[in-house]
Amino acid sequence: MAWLYALMIDPAASDDVRTTFADTFTAVDPSAPALSVGELSTQRGDGIFESIGVVDGHPQEVEAHLERLAHSARLCDLPAPHLPQWRAAIAAVAAHCGAGESVIKLILSRGVEHGPTPTAWVTAAPAADFARVRAEGVRIVTLDRGLDSRAAIRAPWLLLGAKTLSYAVNMAAIREAKRQGADDAIFVSSDGIVLEAPTASVILRIGGTYVTPAPTGSILHGTTQLSAFEWLEAQGLATEYREVPASDLLRADAAWLLSSVRLAAPITAIDGTALPVDPDFTGRLNAYLLSPRD
Ligand code: PLP
Repeated sequence: MAWLYALMIDPAASDDVRTTFADTFTAVDPSAPALSVGELSTQRGDGIFESIGVVDGHPQEVEAHLERLAHSARLCDLPAPHLPQWRAAIAAVAAHCGAGESVIKLILSRGVEHGPTPTAWVTAAPAADFARVRAEGVRIVTLDRGLDSRAAIRAPWLLLGAKTLSYAVNMAAIREAKRQGADDAIFVSSDGIVLEAPTASVILRIGGTYVTPAPTGSILHGTTQLSAFEWLEAQGLATEYREVPASDLLRADAAWLLSSVRLAAPITAIDGTALPVDPDFTGRLNAYLLSPRD
């Protein structure tokens, strides 16, 4: 991996009144070891993160990502991130991203076992080339998440609405999708409600309305989906958050997986049944997602 830059952050308390934070950042060699073996992020996946798309050095939707980082911290009982400090760290790292697409990751871990503070760091790396998947799309299979659509209410400790570092299940779902001859997956609740992909949100176009599963705590609220809805609404197109039964998937006349770095990948097939694609619309959506967004 050709890393671009990495900063360790000495996290400020949420009531810290400083306005400059440069002395709380330490640039580290991104290819050298930097974490203690006692880190709870590596031992237990106990922490949260964000992946921010960067286009020609411009980090996209920083405020939406920071808001979600703060939301994830609340759900995980982590200290509230000091947002001006994280904003400054993102700007410092973005300065090392050149032309083209990159990805900045923010990581806030519970820290070292019995240690005094969380551990925090920010990295930048070149993004993979997603031009082909944006144009040619993904075949998906639906996978049962094994939880019903009310699980998040009954069992908030499942942290389904937080972007935690515990992604082993999400990665296993993508491997299962590939075993089944597809490229990616959509999780469905055990009572048949569409949730999200392992690393992306789902948008369906049904009867002229752009529909996405309501972020009721069972899924992560995608920053890219939010931004796409703003763009759609600005054009007078209808958008809707609602409970989406799995039977609606094949009623769509187009559908996409959306995420911060891959952006909009059109869905070409669901469980082996072809889905119509709209290359012109998908091209315009991705052109918007690649334009500077705040
Ligand atoms: N849902 C899950 C589970 C994800 O991991 C992601 C992104 O990584 C998303 C949705 C999409 O979020 P965003 O658009 O903010 O990248």
